[in-house]
Amino acid sequence: MTQPGVVIIGGGQAGLQVALSLRQLGFDKPIQIVSDEPVLPYQRPPLSKTYLADGNFDQLVLRGQAALDAQQVDVLLATRAEAIDRKARSVSLSDGRTLPYEHLVLATGTRPRRLPLAGSDLQNVHELRTLAQAERLRTAMSAAASIAIVGGGFIGLEVAAFARSAGKKVTVIEAGSRILERSVSAAVSAHLLQLHRRDGIEIRYRIGAGRILGTADGRVTGLLLADDAVVDADLVLLAAGAVPNDDLARGAGLQTGNGILVDTALRTLDPCIWAVGDCVDFPAPRGRLRLESVQNAVEQAKCVARNIVGGNEAFGIVPWFWSDQGRYKLQIAGLTAGADDVLVRKTEDSDRLAAICFRDGTFTGVETVNAPADHMAARTLLARTTGLTRKDFEDANLDLKSLVGSAT
Ligand SMILES: Cc1cc2nc3c(=O)[nH]c(=O)nc-3n(C[C@H](O)[C@H](O)[C@H](O)COP(=O)(O)OP(=O)(O)OC[C@H]3O[C@@H](n4cnc5c(N)ncnc54)[C@H](O)[C@@H]3O)c2cc1C
Repeated sequence: MTQPGVVIIGGGQAGLQVALSLRQLGFDKPIQIVSDEPVLPYQRPPLSKTYLADGNFDQLVLRGQAALDAQQVDVLLATRAEAIDRKARSVSLSDGRTLPYEHLVLATGTRPRRLPLAGSDLQNVHELRTLAQAERLRTAMSAAASIAIVGGGFIGLEVAAFARSAGKKVTVIEAGSRILERSVSAAVSAHLLQLHRRDGIEIRYRIGAGRILGTADGRVTGLLLADDAVVDADLVLLAAGAVPNDDLARGAGLQTGNGILVDTALRTLDPCIWAVGDCVDFPAPRGRLRLESVQNAVEQAKCVARNIVGGNEAFGIVPWFWSDQGRYKLQIAGLTAGADDVLVRKTEDSDRLAAICFRDGTFTGVETVNAPADHMAARTLLARTTGLTRKDFEDANLDLKSLVGSAT
């Protein structure tokens, strides 16, 4: 196989899925994945969950070397794509090589948002995106007694829940007006706040971190907050969201916004270059979106593979997402961010909650805590039915499963 085929930059969930789907579709030209990480593509979600407990990397690997060899998918590890030459249709790599391509797929993901926080260079200050960072955090956490987490988003709360269950003193600091503010309704924020506090996690919101405190020899001792309060901690996790890795695209003259800009078929302005996964800013019915989820990464990858082999498919899915925060399973079906009306069903004798979200009078999705059957019902409703209103749910006593039965 010597002719140019598909080069994929980024060996994460999306990049690997493009390769696997292309082979499934019978694509027989070379496929090369360029990955700047030193290990084969793996699942990231467990890094803030089970991996912190068991450190078992083998369970995270998406395909072993033998399976990749059998599929003739070549993964170049610890190799960075440094520049794209669109005229020559080639990518130059950190090891000095140049790879020609017929189609190029950008699957570069995101990186943690860096806060301009003094003291971030102290020992025992952590970020969490890669296996290497997770391993460093896992090791440090086993020796830590008190942990401060900057950022009350999914990753911050997942790690907080794990650390608390391991007996650590945990404080979460959130600058926004509530935890998970950008991702879920106020009802779900308030519910999770109450559950995590009940478990002994201290959570403060509407307060910024001022700087990380440490000793002269570089050890972390705590966090100074904007109101001059001090949170004692011997480990700090910075978890203030992620920014898309779009520099390579920008350097090649491709358009970027909140990520790499693509059209409905997930193609950039260059017809030979596509983008998939967390790094992508794509058009959706209610405006452009960038999603950070496994489902989105996998489904975009499949869509691009179909388009590379000759399709012209517009990307469209009913999004879903999960976040396991210790004993609490948060699930989101549909696009609930931006909801202007929310119906809440709460079961008093349990931790279960469902928040049914509407925008402009129309049902847009459901956020659930510890209610997986409601989550699945919501996905069915979103896939099958359009235009459901608040009244439809009220008439069904907010019972999503019965509505599935009656909706056509
Ligand atoms: C700790 C954690 C927990 C998560 N939990 C959940 C969850 O519970 N549910 C859920 O749905 N999603 C979760 N996610 C999000 C999910 O993991 C991502 O949506 C998914 O991994 C996106 O895949 P991707 O391939 O787009 O990006 P990534 O998996 O980030 O892969 C991108 C790869 O490209 C590499 N790269 C970047 N630039 C270059 C370059 N120039 N050259 C070579 N390689 C490059 C990066 O190093 C990286 O390896 C979690 C993420 C993290 C970090």
